[in-house]
Amino acid sequence: MTTINNVIKKQLLINGSWMDAKEYSPLRSPYSGEVLAEIPMATEEETDQAIEAAQNATKIMAKMPAHQRAKVLETLAQLLEKRAEEAAQIISMESAKPINTAKGEVDRTIETYKFAAEEAKRIHGETLSMDAARGGENRLAYTVREPIGVIGAITPFNFPMNLVAHKVGPAIAAGNTIVLKPASQTPLSSLFLAELLQEAGLPKGALNVVTGGGRVVGDKLVTDSRVNMITFTGSPAVGIGISNKAGLKRVTLELGSNAAVIIDKGVDIDKIISRCVMGAFSNQGQVCISLQRIYAHEEVYDRFVEKFIEATKLLKVGDPLNPETDVSALISQNDVDRTLNWIEEAKQSGANIATGGFREGNILHPTVILDADSHLKVSCQEVFAPIVLINKIQTVEEAINLVNDSKYGLQAGIYTDNVHTALDAAENLQVGGVMINDVPTFRVDNMPYGGVKESGTGREGLKYAVEEMTEMKLIVWNRN
Ligand code: NAP
Repeated sequence: MTTINNVIKKQLLINGSWMDAKEYSPLRSPYSGEVLAEIPMATEEETDQAIEAAQNATKIMAKMPAHQRAKVLETLAQLLEKRAEEAAQIISMESAKPINTAKGEVDRTIETYKFAAEEAKRIHGETLSMDAARGGENRLAYTVREPIGVIGAITPFNFPMNLVAHKVGPAIAAGNTIVLKPASQTPLSSLFLAELLQEAGLPKGALNVVTGGGRVVGDKLVTDSRVNMITFTGSPAVGIGISNKAGLKRVTLELGSNAAVIIDKGVDIDKIISRCVMGAFSNQGQVCISLQRIYAHEEVYDRFVEKFIEATKLLKVGDPLNPETDVSALISQNDVDRTLNWIEEAKQSGANIATGGFREGNILHPTVILDADSHLKVSCQEVFAPIVLINKIQTVEEAINLVNDSKYGLQAGIYTDNVHTALDAAENLQVGGVMINDVPTFRVDNMPYGGVKESGTGREGLKYAVEEMTEMKLIVWNRN
């Protein structure tokens, strides 16, 4: 690592060595535009070297005992705990995540690696009753789970440390090797992780970090036959493209959504307002399970709208490094332009912009839209910005239909005091996870997490990711 006019020039991590790249690009703060570092833009050849290193390390990782894999992950968690403040600053600077939210992400990342360390010790198969089948008598059979090999991990910008942990943690736990391609806007968190993992004693080649463009590095990972699996988190458009190109490679896709919550009659509105505001505006709404659509029963609608807008207006916008800031810049100027166009479309079609709807630099002020039609982009596309819609419903059944009227299906929430209504919602909502009496934005890192429809395929959450990242093998002993 060198500095050019005080700007740090980063390197690629290939086969345990930090290497200069042929090409570089400046990384800028989404909030201030300041140059934070010079980032390697890996070429296809450099990505090829990283894949080769990962392939060469597969044997050593597959042979490493579970207690050693767990130890590497435990040490990583300890190192991250010691450098938590620095880690939060990195996330905040490169992604404009408000510093307190960034600290929360670092805490979660530490926990994710601890869960991964625990999972490393309980990877096992099952014994089978072969004599249940005619012709199966006198046979002993069992399954084992083996590492899948080289994993290409492609990650998004919005949780640059914890979503990387959701791929690197289970991959190491299961004895695989990794080529990691972080989002171009947030490479620093991944390069920081790589430093810590080297210090934690991970063998060379087991983790390679290749920064650079999605089209170049991503395409090479997806199409190279030495890569056995792609684990991708990002937008549906890119995810679908990867799925089309990956052939028979195993692919898990954690994609986007326009998550919704239903608020039934009789719910104590005061109790849920701060939770709903957090769900809608945390990390500027750039969360895959961000609360985008609220369907409130007509009996509670007026009170909910009034209280929600009141609370939204109290949010502080500004510099992500200021601990007072709740909402900061969107990830790019293009995203501010896009969302303002979508708000304008909503306005033109008669929706009411109750608060927000304007920019200050790259910050979009928290925006609440009432009476938005379901065909509008702010409703049926993923906004990925601090924008939330509140619509009035007559029955929960109607709301369930509206929630399901979406090409996405990641998580949904319902607030209700009626147990029958809650059970109906749990049964009928077409999503990967239903939160009863919470916003869809709820996630802890050991739960199974993933979606249906265009929200993706496969599950993360350490135990579930380990299942995806291992291959089941059957062994049958003939004792006849
Ligand atoms: P994105 O634009 O799809 O990028 C995600 C990653 O894919 C980046 O590393 C990107 O690289 C790479 N990429 C771009 N084009 C590629 C290609 N042709 N082949 C292979 N890789 C390619 O997504 P984002 O804007 O970073 O993240 C936001 C999206 O992620 C939202 O839709 C959000 O809902 C989703 N998300 C889902 C989950 C979940 O768990 N379900 C969690 C978080 C986020 P570059 O940065 O170089 O373009």
